Amino acid sequence: MELKKTAGRPRVVIIGGGFAGINLAKKLKDKPVEVLLLDKHNYHTFQPLLYQVAMGYIEADSIAFPLRRIFGKQKNFTFNLADVKKINPEKNTITADIGEIAYDYLVIATGADTNFFGNKQIEHFAMPMKNVGEALNIRSFMLQNLEKAVIQTDPGERDALLTFVVVGGGPTGVELSGALAEIRNHVLTDDYPSLKTEDMEV
Ligand SMILES: Cc1cc2nc3c(=O)[nH]c(=O)nc-3n(C[C@H](O)[C@H](O)[C@H](O)COP(=O)(O)OP(=O)(O)OC[C@H]3O[C@@H](n4cnc5c(N)ncnc54)[C@H](O)[C@@H]3O)c2cc1C
Repeated sequence: MELKKTAGRPRVVIIGGGFAGINLAKKLKDKPVEVLLLDKHNYHTFQPLLYQVAMGYIEADSIAFPLRRIFGKQKNFTFNLADVKKINPEKNTITADIGEIAYDYLVIATGADTNFFGNKQIEHFAMPMKNVGEALNIRSFMLQNLEKAVIQTDPGERDALLTFVVVGGGPTGVELSGALAEIRNHVLTDDYPSLKTEDMEV
């Protein structure tokens, strides 16, 4: 599929509907350009609250806002769900899973991936948290560990299931550790009566 330009105005293609992409698209509202926003998800993720999704405090859709809805009234705006694979600067096009798309101006606002600093072992075993899917993986993993701990009779194995290590003491690491501690202190013994508060370690 090839997305052809429709208006006679220059087309600004923005890859990524995060804070950067959204704010730029809004700023271009009354400018003489056609704005095409592409994202591999059809929603914007409010990353600061990912830790609450990971800990089961809020549902995933509380932090995922439909991109089309955000720009409902902006006339020079179009959104397409597209995973961008390649940029072809020699032809001013990009290659995405939905086809080849032409641009006059291209803005890459694709955010950041978790950096494992080349440590393959950590990359293999650790669980990153940059998007909704990854936050849900952490939630699922934590809950499965608690369920397994309830029926685990080997003390060593149970300790391992109930020991949570958070790597990274920035705001996200601190928030996540605090939320885990709240589960330990206020939820664990209510929901899992056979476990004791001191069984879980963060
Ligand atoms: C857990 C967490 C907590 C945070 N807490 C705070 C906080 O409290 N305060 C604060 O100021 N900042 C916080 N940040 C940082 C802040 O969220 C980021 O700096 C900000 O989201 C970056 O915005 P962005 O638009 O550059 O990228 P992103 O928000 O990451 O958006 C990038 C977008 O690009 C899309 N994309 C990526 N690759 C492709 C592709 N190939 N094709 C199509 N689409 C693609 C993605 O789907 C995504 O929607 C936090 C970040 C995280 C991960």
